[in-house]
Amino acid sequence: MENTTSGTTKARIAGMVKHSSVDGPGVRFTVFFQGCPHHCPGCHNPETWDPAGGEEISLDELIEEIRKTRYLDGITLSGGDPLLQPRAVIAAADAAHAKGLTVWCYTGWTFEEIMKGSAGPDAVEALNHMDVLVDGPFRMELLSRECIYRGSSNQRLVDVPASLSAGAAREVKSL
Ligand code: SF4
Repeated sequence: MENTTSGTTKARIAGMVKHSSVDGPGVRFTVFFQGCPHHCPGCHNPETWDPAGGEEISLDELIEEIRKTRYLDGITLSGGDPLLQPRAVIAAADAAHAKGLTVWCYTGWTFEEIMKGSAGPDAVEALNHMDVLVDGPFRMELLSRECIYRGSSNQRLVDVPASLSAGAAREVKSL
């Protein structure tokens, strides 16, 4: 199957975990995208920063992996920063939604920055294809063990459909 949505046929990833229980609620298929421009001090995954590192995977292969993996509640797009590869985010998210799975995406940009275009126009479009955005850079001085699914207290679990509808960030009320 050729990906015809954009001409993008490949993603550059650092790896995949097919059954993760730490990247959002339930059992999730996590894709770690390669490349991150944010370089947060204290980042746990600095090996994902180099946009030329990692390995290439075709979007067809990525979609097929999501499609065939059983016993999932959702997918999580992590990294690195997935929004450097927004067309791949859209393809993976659509494959997950077609299976009835929820889509979470981590990013070092805030919801407001994305909406202003800081991550590019395709990243704005990608918001329409996800359910929860865990947003903002990791800030060591705000490190908190209280923050479920986040590293620092500045990061939010943004309810993306509600936020797009309201025109302003709305956090997830319950998981
Ligand atoms: S945005 Fe995430 S992956 Fe990128 S440097 Fe910050 S903590 Fe690391």
